[in-house]
Amino acid sequence: MAERLLVAGGLVIDPRRKLEAVRDVLIENGKIKDAAAGLAKKAGLKGTPTLDAKGLWVIPGLVDMHVHLREPGREGDETIATGTAAAAAGGVTTVLAMANTEPVTDSPSQLAFLRAKAARDAQVNVLFAAAVTAGQRGERLTEFARLKAAGAAALSDDGRPVMSAGLMRRALEYAKDLGLLVIDHCEDLTLSAGACVHEGAPALRKGLKGAPGAAETVQVLRDVALAELTGGRVHLAHLSAAASVEAVRRAKRRGVPVSAEACPHHFALTDGMIPDLDANWKMNPPLRGGEDRAALREGLADGTIDAIATDHAPHGCGAKAQGLDLAPFGVIGLETSLAVALTELVRGKVLSRRALVERMSSAPAALLGLKGKGTLAPGADADLVLVDPGASWTPAPPFRSKSRNTPFAGRPLKGRAVKTLVAGRVVHAL
Ligand SMILES: [Zn+2]
Repeated sequence: MAERLLVAGGLVIDPRRKLEAVRDVLIENGKIKDAAAGLAKKAGLKGTPTLDAKGLWVIPGLVDMHVHLREPGREGDETIATGTAAAAAGGVTTVLAMANTEPVTDSPSQLAFLRAKAARDAQVNVLFAAAVTAGQRGERLTEFARLKAAGAAALSDDGRPVMSAGLMRRALEYAKDLGLLVIDHCEDLTLSAGACVHEGAPALRKGLKGAPGAAETVQVLRDVALAELTGGRVHLAHLSAAASVEAVRRAKRRGVPVSAEACPHHFALTDGMIPDLDANWKMNPPLRGGEDRAALREGLADGTIDAIATDHAPHGCGAKAQGLDLAPFGVIGLETSLAVALTELVRGKVLSRRALVERMSSAPAALLGLKGKGTLAPGADADLVLVDPGASWTPAPPFRSKSRNTPFAGRPLKGRAVKTLVAGRVVHAL
């Protein structure tokens, strides 16, 4: 017998179909069967189990293409189980896990191990990126074709840049032939060495070493040049600097195959807001100035920046207690990304609600070539989120994540995922 569930009376927002209307969504065997008005009243559907979505938005599940799950190697900070529980709580139904695990995810056997682990432990869909270079050492490319055959969803040395332009050129050429997306963490290490924050007035006041926005932008410009040279697609992770946004905008105008993402902390916060030496505000790239934040918002609004991703990077309290200059880089984000984006971008009139769903679901799904994700069209996977746009709440530990390193703790937010479904199954309910 078909397993059915009705999600009734919610405002369905589906950017792919330019749909924004009250609809009933019928789920059958983990897929969207239909989304239409008045379905709940149909004679044939009487008695179908029903979720009441009146007053809520019903959106395709969020796709977060930049997540660190820390497994294997640092299970004390996060695991596939806890990281995906955090995702579910935040309305994120698909994550792309980065390859900077210990050991680095750079071989087919490691991918097979991780995919089997995810099949057992994960509450949401988990895709895995494989490293661009062996051990992420930046010396020799991994075997892209074998990694793709083993299920790699993208290639990235994230955590580190691919510093050699020659290697990056060949990576883009090989990945193009295989249809794999290369994701680059843009940072010229010779410009950022020793820095713990952005190079600006707040760093100067606190006596901290900063990295200029140019540490990112010079590599963005290099990657644009290499994408233009090779015709290979490059995706730029966590853009943070105004000049980087402008470089991507100009590249796109010329038709260069480049895409980009921005993180909630970068479009919500600035370096001037960092309280004292609180390392829960330390990440790489760092929080930058007001002009950079404004440029990211503009880039999100005009589509220069395709996607919103968290760069969810759990670290234990001990590591983060070392203060701004010694603590490791990174903040968690899966449980707060939707709420921060709703508060800052939709309430802040930067994006319409439909554009927000596009940046957080449809666009990343398309960048990763995920058919059946990022839409609620009939036939799509029944990954969806019920959002209460008016819910006021304040993030506070403990979180579903094993870690609590977030600058958003204690910050009032508006809007929240109240139910998350993956393949038609409820994985989070408030
Ligand atoms: Zn990174």
